[in-house]
Amino acid sequence: MNGKVYLVGAGPGDPDLLTLKALRLLRAADVVLHDALVTDEILRLVRPHARLVDVGKRVGQHHLTQNEINRKMIEAAQWANVVVRLKGGDPLIFGRAAEEMAALREVGVDFEIVPGITAAIAAAAQARVPLTDRDGASSVTFVTAHAADGRYPVSFESIAASGATVVLYMPGGSYGEIGRQLSVGRVPPETPCLVVSNACRENQQRLWTDVRSLPSITPPEAPALLIIGKVARCRDAPSATAAVPLNSERVQALDQR
Ligand code: SAH
Repeated sequence: MNGKVYLVGAGPGDPDLLTLKALRLLRAADVVLHDALVTDEILRLVRPHARLVDVGKRVGQHHLTQNEINRKMIEAAQWANVVVRLKGGDPLIFGRAAEEMAALREVGVDFEIVPGITAAIAAAAQARVPLTDRDGASSVTFVTAHAADGRYPVSFESIAASGATVVLYMPGGSYGEIGRQLSVGRVPPETPCLVVSNACRENQQRLWTDVRSLPSITPPEAPALLIIGKVARCRDAPSATAAVPLNSERVQALDQR
């Protein structure tokens, strides 16, 4: 094995939000194995003769399993010098990095992590919402609504009691269930809730609502996440905490201005 694998965070989608190191590696890569979340604008930065493999793509009804992805990564390290495993956001946040690092360790392939801007940070920045606030939230918790074993993966009770801002990744279409779980966790119904879809992309949408009204919203296009907590009120519009969605909007990605 002479290759090195770089687990690289591609950020939320806007190429301007890549790190310089990520960009340098995309330009040096012999092979890039990327997820479905990585945008075309970012893939266009890959060295022209590099081999580009979409490991997030469905082949018929079949998604590549994690083992198949691990195998492809290890095979690539046998012939390539620079192998980039490119993931949306940050590789260490809901990115299956633990499995990939374990597989690389097992066969003795050298690897390095290159951090990226995770979706929570990107969404908060775009919506101008502080995730922590001296007045309201002294911590922030990233949770997922996606259960590996079918059970609901998180209990909101202790999080809510601590006053933490909650950022919920992978809501799927289950806003009713999320609303129910928040009520079970005794999160007050008037707690502000912001849904951001496609943060930092051309088709970004924001939806301001609250815990009470969450089950009745139309789920936005994926990828989307929720920011729940006092901080998630809209400070840029007059009736920020109203129960109904106030605005949804498109912003131009910086590179298209
Ligand atoms: N490693 C990624 C997360 C992968 S899990 C990161 O650090 O961002 C996939 C989930 O991330 C999606 O279901 C969604 O909840 C969130 N996500 C990723 N990109 C997003 C984007 N541009 N806008 C909103 N949510 C996003």
